[in-house]
Amino acid sequence: MNIVMMGPPGAGKGTQAKILAERFDLLHLSPGDLLREAVREGTELGRKAKTFMDAGLLVPDELIVDLIGGRIREEEAGRARGVILDGFPRTLRQAEALDELLEESGRPLDAVVNITLPVEEAVRRLTGRRVCRGCGANYHLLYKPPRALGVCDLCGGPLYQRTDDTEETARSRLEVYRRETEPLISYYARRGLVREVDGRGNVDTVTDRLVKALRPGP
Ligand code: ADP
Ligand code: AMP
Repeated sequence: MNIVMMGPPGAGKGTQAKILAERFDLLHLSPGDLLREAVREGTELGRKAKTFMDAGLLVPDELIVDLIGGRIREEEAGRARGVILDGFPRTLRQAEALDELLEESGRPLDAVVNITLPVEEAVRRLTGRRVCRGCGANYHLLYKPPRALGVCDLCGGPLYQRTDDTEETARSRLEVYRRETEPLISYYARRGLVREVDGRGNVDTVTDRLVKALRPGP
């Protein structure tokens, strides 16, 4: 099963992709997570990507396609249970590259889940997000606070705020999403792949909606 998760920044793609990957035994691939790791490690990719990420802009397509293409091919050679793509594709060129990658491996795209969320709620989720430096777990100051302030419940690591989660950059990212990524929904809708899921409500409610939306149709 190969799934693409779409939806604005803050919609809950990362949160839900982790849950679904575990439940359905899929490889969770998030270019954002991979890029932040590259920035932390100071690799050439990290250095190239950082300015774009800090400005809330998309990283150039060729860098992203190489990054994700490499991981998908590795997966091919490995477990081959399928992938859940969270934050890729984000442009038409990336979507076309994904079609080629999946065609190469002879595996179709099964569904494109579009998690919807009003802009103001997305801004609240982004500005309140905190991430663990140790294990990458996600928290929210109001919706999912850690037991001890600034400390990860799971590994005890310190929590930090992403540099692109300030209100100003969050709003630019939402605008970039509207302009560059949202048009992909009609690209996939023409192929009958899109399942709309309401992203409001708590994490469990949204997971239930996703699981229902991913069940094979009648
Ligand atoms: P995305 O990957 O789409 O940018 P995340 O999964 O990182 O979004 O979620 C953004 C923030 O909102 C995180 O702080 C997360 O803990 C929180 N969050 C995710 N889903 C929900 C939800 N259903 N209700 C409340 N907060 C949520
Ligand atoms: P995310 O973790 O999905 O919120 O992504 C954080 C940032 O990483 C984005 O604002 C972009 O700068 C970059 N990024 C993530 N995914 C992509 C992608 N598919 N194409 C281009 N840039 C991306």
